[in-house]
Amino acid sequence: MMYNAIINPKELFKEAVRTVYPRKCPGCRDVILPDMLVCESCAAEFKLVEPPFCLKCGRHVEDEETELCDECASKDHRYSMGFSAFVYDGIMRRAMSDLKYSSAAENADYFAEIAAKTCGERVKMFNPDIIIPVPIHPSRRAERGYNQAQLISDRLSAALDIPSVNDLLIRRKKTAALKRLDAAGRAENLKQAFECDLKRYPREEISVRFGRVLLIDDIYTTGATMECCTEALLDAGVHEVAVLSVAIGYNY
Ligand SMILES: [Zn+2]
Ligand SMILES: [Zn+2]
Repeated sequence: MMYNAIINPKELFKEAVRTVYPRKCPGCRDVILPDMLVCESCAAEFKLVEPPFCLKCGRHVEDEETELCDECASKDHRYSMGFSAFVYDGIMRRAMSDLKYSSAAENADYFAEIAAKTCGERVKMFNPDIIIPVPIHPSRRAERGYNQAQLISDRLSAALDIPSVNDLLIRRKKTAALKRLDAAGRAENLKQAFECDLKRYPREEISVRFGRVLLIDDIYTTGATMECCTEALLDAGVHEVAVLSVAIGYNY
């Protein structure tokens, strides 16, 4: 096949990709313009977490005097603060599930843009040295083609100009689907799931270069996953961890 000399083959390829895989709205899955991240009517449907925020997890709390939500008041977490962009409700559940199970990787663009807008200022105040995604097991990553938390952390890294490190925190063993386990089962299952790759990054290096870490996950429910990752990071020489979730659930 011969290309017309005037057409840049790279642009031609990009155009072909856009034609075959047009950008879709994360809410309704309708085709949207390539420079849009969400359609107008869905933009109004996605619910953002409104201030004031729980200092620990980023949920909405009743008033400025309330520092912690009920969930965080009843539990001890080792991360020092948390931020979250969206309420994990109907439309968000579907959009997140599409990102995780239906190859809608483009949804990460919208999630990260809103997370940077709504949480960026608070993240800057925490002043992290690096951003780290919660890892998924390599076999799950192979099935899915990507780690959804890493798609988001890569985009946040670019938006907030904070380097991301994807090979420090690693997943040790495959965990059962969390949905099927009760709270005790989840905790037991997760306890041993994460560790830091100390062969790649010696403890002294971690302590000097990665003292303050912002940990990224897609969904925050009980905080159990964030807590296990935080423990692995602190055990490896990190000084302080803050957590950012794209969406946060209520009543868990
Ligand atoms: Zn839409
Ligand atoms: Zn909280």
